Amino acid sequence: MGEQSPGGTRKAVKPPKPESRLAMVRRARRINRELADVYPYAHPELDFRNPFELLVATVLSAQTTDLRVNQTTPALFAKYPTPEDVAAAEPEALEEILRPTGFFRAKTKALLGLSVALRDNFGGEVPGNLKDLVSLPGVGRKTAFVVLGNAFGVPGITVDTHFGRLVRRWKWTEQEDPEKVEAEIAEIFPKSEWTMLSHRVIFHGRRICHSRKPACGACPIAHLCPSYGEGETDPEKAKKLLKYEMGGQPGQRLSPPPDYPGKPAPPLGASG
Ligand code: SF4
Repeated sequence: MGEQSPGGTRKAVKPPKPESRLAMVRRARRINRELADVYPYAHPELDFRNPFELLVATVLSAQTTDLRVNQTTPALFAKYPTPEDVAAAEPEALEEILRPTGFFRAKTKALLGLSVALRDNFGGEVPGNLKDLVSLPGVGRKTAFVVLGNAFGVPGITVDTHFGRLVRRWKWTEQEDPEKVEAEIAEIFPKSEWTMLSHRVIFHGRRICHSRKPACGACPIAHLCPSYGEGETDPEKAKKLLKYEMGGQPGQRLSPPPDYPGKPAPPLGASG
């Protein structure tokens, strides 16, 4: 409905004011705080015991799930625990172990190249800085940030497919390019939050705010989300869409941290 102006003509009702930058930043920080309450146990969903294992697991996670990587790496690290061991491995033996992760020939090559570079250029140690990490074959910024944030305690934002989708749904950014997303989100949050923010957002994307059917009706931050209604709003139907510990199912890690409230993932073969 328009309003009647003094001259008798109808004037269009103004659309709601676009959110100011300040209001968006406040809302973004509130989402982060509320996600911290929902997922106090948020963590990287790859199993690892040292920087090398995390680096390898992250490289293997391309084009597959963290669960499948976690089911594959125990056999790999039991046989080849160090970069030197992997570098000296028979490619065919590696391929056989990596087969369940898909693209196993390419991944075998990547793993061999990476391990040779670690052995020859870094004394068999994973370097703890961005410049050296991205100099390793097959290691991009996303992988480097995962390793820095979780194995070295260096703050980093991990823009994977979940992170990008959610921050665009929340109107924190309109960027599609991961590096631009990373730069814009870095402006909203203090560095100290970057790593945990990444885990919380990715947890939320995997459990509730799915790509095709977000479970809006069961979403604890729906009141802060401009995209509420993009998915199922009926609470009962939405509840059925929840995944992992939220849906009473096993998680992705075979060895989750002790505070994880869900069940550990089953080993390879047990999950079908
Ligand atoms: S309300 Fe819906 S779109 Fe918004 S965060 Fe929750 S699940 Fe995602």
